[in-house]
Amino acid sequence: MTLDYAGATTKYEPTLGLEVHVELNTKSKMFCGCATEFGAEPNTQTCPVCLGLPGALPVVNAKAIESSILIGLALNCSIAPYSRFARKNYFYPDMPKNFQTSQFDEPICVNGYLDVEIQTDEGQKVFRVEIERVHMEEDTGKSLHVGGATGRIHGAEYSLLDYNRAGIPLVEIVTRIVPGTGKYAPQVARAYVTELRDILRSLGVSDVKMEQGSLRCDANVSLAPIGSGKLGTRSETKNVNSLRSVERAVSGEIERQANRLEAGERIIQETRHFLEESGQTRPGRSKEQAEDYRYFPEPDLVPVTPDAKWIEELGTRIPEKPSVRRKRLQTQWNCPDKEMESLVNAELLDVVEETIKLGAEPTRARTWWLGEISRLANEKEVAPTSLITSKDVAEIIALIVGGDLTDKLARQVVEGVISGEGSASSVIEKRGLKVVSDDSALMTAIEAAIAAQPDTAERIRGGNIPAAGALIGAVMKATGGAADAAKVRELLLKHLGRG
Ligand code: ZN
Ligand code: MN
Repeated sequence: MTLDYAGATTKYEPTLGLEVHVELNTKSKMFCGCATEFGAEPNTQTCPVCLGLPGALPVVNAKAIESSILIGLALNCSIAPYSRFARKNYFYPDMPKNFQTSQFDEPICVNGYLDVEIQTDEGQKVFRVEIERVHMEEDTGKSLHVGGATGRIHGAEYSLLDYNRAGIPLVEIVTRIVPGTGKYAPQVARAYVTELRDILRSLGVSDVKMEQGSLRCDANVSLAPIGSGKLGTRSETKNVNSLRSVERAVSGEIERQANRLEAGERIIQETRHFLEESGQTRPGRSKEQAEDYRYFPEPDLVPVTPDAKWIEELGTRIPEKPSVRRKRLQTQWNCPDKEMESLVNAELLDVVEETIKLGAEPTRARTWWLGEISRLANEKEVAPTSLITSKDVAEIIALIVGGDLTDKLARQVVEGVISGEGSASSVIEKRGLKVVSDDSALMTAIEAAIAAQPDTAERIRGGNIPAAGALIGAVMKATGGAADAAKVRELLLKHLGRG
């Protein structure tokens, strides 16, 4: 008999642990001046330092230290007045130095926490995730295995190496074990990575693109029978690359482990890989024997000793926590949950806030960004914010509210701005897109419509008011949508003795 997720969490208590690697967005690498731009020609952003050539000497990137301290402060950590780099020794072809410069027993930030809120059966509940450490290290290069069916090294004919990524600053954020989440472990994991991502983004220290690998999560999961007070053997699912996958990887592991335990088998301590298609994990490296990396202090780098004044100054730069800000804005804007979620997912919170600051009414600002502009952005496969500015949107909304633009005309203005015809006001000017509110101009169009459809006009005169739709439509068409439909209706009915 197999246990499903509900069965598994009725019998077993999961314990979580999360490790997140985030690539910093510094212009240059961690220990050399090489560029860090994503997507450059392979091996064009390298030098003797990041290629590990003999005699090359590293220098720490000050901006990376600053970003690491900001991260530590935002996660309520203590910042070490003295920390050191260490060599983590292992061989892999994507790491030409044969060691990763990392931090070991003297990390830059320790003992923090992050509170995350999730929806439970008993309503919203806060879980505190304690942070053990935040340390600095460097990324490895990328290998591409060519030939073979799987794209993995097994069965490949040859492998190619790109060292552009080697030496890009990484910050690793490690939680303590998170007990007591019960069946909510997958949601807590997802909420933690989401909140962490939002904080990192608000700090401006990383572009946090999970799909490009600039934010990667390793999820540790273990199970023990409920009430046993014990900790089970854990597995570590590596490099999960979307928020949804974090949740699925954790629930998949809970189910897999529960079924192994039910069958009397033991859990092997190992790394596992998440399979997007099935939502399951497959085994990777066994960690039964503790790996010995022979860490030792990096002799080529001086210790990191940030000044207390500097740390204090950085502390003043920590922005409002994103979850707190979201709640504040949602209340201010009187925004339904679903819509707020859409704004957050589409990364439109900042631009909508700007649009509202420029005078737009919140509901209209949200509707334009989430609706028409997002639709056009989807078509072009770009971000909505790359198409039009908050200033233009605020201006368009003001014109709608003032009765100078109908929704239909406003869509044409948006389209004009997006196709590069200039600002909202110049598109309106060039295309002549003002609402025709001049009664005499409208009356000319109305009379023309009546002359073209005399039978319809007769029916309206006779009391068939719904028939007016056809004539209003004709007027709207004749004015290219520039007429205010309510106004047309009013004038038409009046003219036909039904007003
Ligand atoms: Zn370099
Ligand atoms: Mn690491």
